[in-house]
Amino acid sequence: MLTARILFPLPLPEPFDYRIPDGMTVKAGSYVRAPLGKFARIGVVWEVTESDPERKLKDIEAVFPTPPMPKSMRRFVEFCARYNVAGPGQVLGMALRSRGGLSPSPTQTVYAATGHRTNRMTLAREKVLDAAKTLGPASAADLAREAGVSSSVIKGLAEAGSLTPEILPTDLPYSVPDPSLAGPDLTPEQARAGQALREAVKQGGYQPFLLDGITGSGKTEVYFEAISETLAKDPTAQILVLLPEIALTQAVLDRFESRFAAGPAPWHSALSDQQRRRTWREVAHGRARIVTGARSALFLPFSNLKLIIVDEEHDTSFKQEDGVRYHARDMAVMRAKLEEACIILASATPALETVVNAEAGRYQQLKLSARPGAAKLPEMHLVDLRSNTPEKGTWLSPILSKALVATHAEGEQSLLFLNRRGYAPLVICKACGERLKSPGTESWLTEHRYTNRLVCHLTGWSMPKPDKCPMCGAKDSLMGVGPGVERVAEEVRVLLPDAQVEIFSSDTAMGGEATRGIVDRMAEGEIDVLVGTQIVAKGHNFPNLTLVGVVDADSGLQGGDLRAGERTYQLLSQVAGRAGRAERPGRALIQTYQPDNPAMQALAAGDRDGFLKIERDVRDELTLPPFGRMAAMVLSAPDAGMAKEIGLLAGKAAPHGDGVTVYGPAPAPIGILRGRHRLRFLITAPRDVDLSAYMAAWLKVLKLPNAARVAVDIDPYSFL
Ligand code: ADP
Repeated sequence: MLTARILFPLPLPEPFDYRIPDGMTVKAGSYVRAPLGKFARIGVVWEVTESDPERKLKDIEAVFPTPPMPKSMRRFVEFCARYNVAGPGQVLGMALRSRGGLSPSPTQTVYAATGHRTNRMTLAREKVLDAAKTLGPASAADLAREAGVSSSVIKGLAEAGSLTPEILPTDLPYSVPDPSLAGPDLTPEQARAGQALREAVKQGGYQPFLLDGITGSGKTEVYFEAISETLAKDPTAQILVLLPEIALTQAVLDRFESRFAAGPAPWHSALSDQQRRRTWREVAHGRARIVTGARSALFLPFSNLKLIIVDEEHDTSFKQEDGVRYHARDMAVMRAKLEEACIILASATPALETVVNAEAGRYQQLKLSARPGAAKLPEMHLVDLRSNTPEKGTWLSPILSKALVATHAEGEQSLLFLNRRGYAPLVICKACGERLKSPGTESWLTEHRYTNRLVCHLTGWSMPKPDKCPMCGAKDSLMGVGPGVERVAEEVRVLLPDAQVEIFSSDTAMGGEATRGIVDRMAEGEIDVLVGTQIVAKGHNFPNLTLVGVVDADSGLQGGDLRAGERTYQLLSQVAGRAGRAERPGRALIQTYQPDNPAMQALAAGDRDGFLKIERDVRDELTLPPFGRMAAMVLSAPDAGMAKEIGLLAGKAAPHGDGVTVYGPAPAPIGILRGRHRLRFLITAPRDVDLSAYMAAWLKVLKLPNAARVAVDIDPYSFL
């Protein structure tokens, strides 16, 4: 009897066995439906084996017409589960994000004009025929909407033979990219890097690269060379380009489209169900050739993945912080290995982990040191806020204010960066001194003037701004403290009354449309001063932008995060890199109270490698990542008593591991989140210790009360 071991996308420890009914074609990797408990569930056949005919097994119910998940992908799911200490079923869940993608596309009836004119024409009928001309083949609803008539008119025209119905799939295949189109003439440096990539692709196999080029040096153009070669070499090869979610703007997709005469298949959290199933299906069938996506696109079931690009590879949004916690860049390298594919990690400010890998010869390094044409890196100046203090209640130093005025007078654009949404990051009562907190969470509420609400940025909870203090009842006593982007924009409007000032944050740019609107208006020079959060740092090209002001460079340095300095350096150089991308030179003014901090000094001197060297020595000395391994365990309970108890339990259960040090339990910096009390353990070990196996062993012996929760985070990036 043939048996299939089926893995379900559920938190179950292992696959289950099912009988393959006679006449059903099931292979390893097949997507199937099978009964599990009371329901029929979708799963993937992990293995097909021969087993004892006497065994009582349930039958597989159905097989989907999707090509089987390749072996390399199944191994990847297993690797990801093991490395990140998650169940294989949970990882498989990330690969099965679209059930609709397993079935063929739904169909719809569209109508096209036949050219036949019935002799019973009415005004409504004329309008429909006009609409059919403008729209081409379209559904009855679309035609009726365009013509402004009821859909019965379309039916009438179809019966009269003036329109002909045709049944078409709703999810159309993506256009096939054309590798033969040429990009711009590459600079000699770009051409060398592009050639190295083309040769690696030609040769084939696992080939990891670090494409290390300053902002605006043309990294995109260079990795387009690798894409072009991959498409040309193998007519079924697929390419995955991972980008930070907020960089997946239309402007970036348009660049792909103009280079390859076909838009890439998109994958990110804002897709509709239809877009999601379309991309998933086209990827699984091998028809989508180029996919651009956020981190979760790494789990799409490619059938012939030959090239992965991780753009802005240092970006922390590649780290998933809930559910299965994984780092998409690190997992992408493993996926490339399993697929025997080429992988390019691109950045102007690569992560220390990546730089160390490149230096150790694990990645081949390609450098781009200049911007093409006249464009130059902006001049960087530190503004010492101790001697250039803004007036009370304002946030822009006299130097930065003057620069804003001068830039505006020249007809050029400015960008002010402050990584804080809303109007004020803290709301206090002038009468009783209360600081307003989010309910059940240890986090301050932020004042948003635009919507007149108080918002918790951690949980998303919000309420209209009350006119009385919720604690003491004093009227009109609530006061916002500190600056957010809305408040800085207010200050700029006073400084430059005739300037067009806009705010760019996830509050003003909700969804692709709004983001595109702001980016387009900025690129076309309709905005004079853009005040933005980190959303402005990503990949945009604003040719007339010559001044970047960093309002509070120190904000990222607070907190005990081991990567605080590195992250600040990366973010600020990315932001500053928005200036001077065309003919006019740019400059960046960086306001700081810590001008002597190594990150600030390096930024001012443009000495990235010097900065990395200091960081590297510190981490080496303390055996912090990447010189040592690190994991975190976060425990939570509904009350403080239980939290204490499970902390002790978990501490006692920690197994002995050679070289492994367990710190904790300690109260988490965010001690209460959504009503749950939180504790953390930090676990460190030398590089050669398998910390994943250690954490899995710990979890296995850990018996906690039902109301407790535990999460393991390998290579943690967040320490909250
Ligand atoms: P990066 O990804 O390194 O920040 P981009 O690839 O976005 O850089 O390039 C920055 C800008 O320079 C883009 O507008 C790009 O089209 C342009 N560019 C890059 N290389 C060339 C070139 N060789 N000739 C002309 N324009 C170029």
